[in-house]
Amino acid sequence: MTRVAVVGGGIAGLAAALRVRELAPDAEVVVLEATDRVGGKLRQQEVAGLTIDVGAEAMLARRPEGVALAHAAGLGDELVHPAAGVGAGIWTRGAVRPLPPTVQGIPSDLEALAASGILAEAPVSHPAPAPADDVSVAEFVTERVGQDVLDRLVEPLLGGVYAGRPERLSLQAAAPQVAALAPDLLAGAAAARERTYQQPDAGPVFACVRGGMGRLPGAVAAASGAQVRTGAPVRDLVRHGDGWRLTIGPAHDLDELDADLVVVATPGAATSRLLAELAPEAAFALADVEYGSMAIASLVLDGEVEGVGTGFLVPAVEGTAIKASTFSSHKWPWVAEMAPGRTVLRTSMGRVGDSTLLGLTDGQVVERSLADLTAAVGPLPPLLDAHVQRWGSALPQYDVGHLARVDVVERSVAEVAGLEVCGAAYRGIGIPAVVANAHAAVDRLLATA
Ligand SMILES: Cc1cc2nc3c(=O)[nH]c(=O)nc-3n(C[C@H](O)[C@H](O)[C@H](O)COP(=O)(O)OP(=O)(O)OC[C@H]3O[C@@H](n4cnc5c(N)ncnc54)[C@H](O)[C@@H]3O)c2cc1C
Repeated sequence: MTRVAVVGGGIAGLAAALRVRELAPDAEVVVLEATDRVGGKLRQQEVAGLTIDVGAEAMLARRPEGVALAHAAGLGDELVHPAAGVGAGIWTRGAVRPLPPTVQGIPSDLEALAASGILAEAPVSHPAPAPADDVSVAEFVTERVGQDVLDRLVEPLLGGVYAGRPERLSLQAAAPQVAALAPDLLAGAAAARERTYQQPDAGPVFACVRGGMGRLPGAVAAASGAQVRTGAPVRDLVRHGDGWRLTIGPAHDLDELDADLVVVATPGAATSRLLAELAPEAAFALADVEYGSMAIASLVLDGEVEGVGTGFLVPAVEGTAIKASTFSSHKWPWVAEMAPGRTVLRTSMGRVGDSTLLGLTDGQVVERSLADLTAAVGPLPPLLDAHVQRWGSALPQYDVGHLARVDVVERSVAEVAGLEVCGAAYRGIGIPAVVANAHAAVDRLLATA
């Protein structure tokens, strides 16, 4: 029987395990996870007696892969969507202002933008064709629609996803929808909006699982039928006959596992270490992918907060401690139902290259969150409980040239029979993109086995 070892029990590794089960039902699948739990960036925690997400809290529903994974894991009937009629905002120029429709931050409705007051002056378009080579998001956007659109719309939207800086972020990898609007970004965004109006209802943009995204990993693991070993860091991966030998475990208690095929679904640095001898070019390219750190402070307040929608983003130019806040009990009906009369919310802090977080205790993260929230939305009800989840080196930075780097990784790995890689380091960090990447890796692996 073919044995497939999956290294890393985040959503990429688990989606890969389930894909193997679907395509090769007779294979034995073993998932090896370094920590004591599967899920990686999907994680839950009890705060004030409520179980809530402290990592990823939603997935794009306009791409099929995340939602399909939930169905395949038996959670299809438990998919939920954000509350209708409540929107997000941008905290800028002294107020939380409604976020007008945009394409990755490029305004698509100039009237709504003007009414929001996010920009002091209406943006002006300077059409220019998209460059053949990759450039930074900042360079592309400022040249065509000005610094203010970059600072107050594009940066906060991308910063929320990547914890990155637009001066470094790759246009092609991090903002392909913006690239596609060229040459005239404002006209292109307006046309894109017009097209979505003409389409039959595409359904909600985001989805979650009732009870939280943190339920998904366990369900996927169970559906995969894989043997899941936690507390099993893979330290080494070497050729053994036609297959592989993996060295697992803490240094004082090493174990070995032999496998025919291997999927490495770990973050860039760990993958780079494992591939150093096997695929040096890939290891080298992956070592170049920097990761951003952030923290999520989850807060439960003893009372309602009026006059704020599902939350807000904060442009870096505002200089606040928090970069975003999600009012989970406004956004998700399932959260509101489990916390009547309370407000459940979270703030996020941390941008790549900013080490402020390192110097703050968890208590200070909460204090700064509360201070910023009060400045944004006014006095808050008393704090019942708080939890700070630090996500060190968690978000891969898709710097200029990222896709060329990924091509190098994929070519180099393709030369090694019986080995594949997948995860957030490659072609998208959102859950559906990561799942798609895992599926593609398994499809290649089994096709050549
Ligand atoms: C705070 C935060 C909020 C986010 N919010 C959203 C959101 O709302 N929606 C969305 O779509 N995306 C969101 N994302 C992004 C998304 O969650 C991640 O990109 C995705 O979950 C990454 O999955 P992964 O499996 O590639 O990596 P990971 O989740 O990092 O999993 C990798 C796993 O490999 C394990 N590992 C590492 N080294 C080894 C080793 N040597 N041996 C064995 N195991 C190892 C790790 O312990 C980990 O469990 C968020 C990310 C963060 C950090």
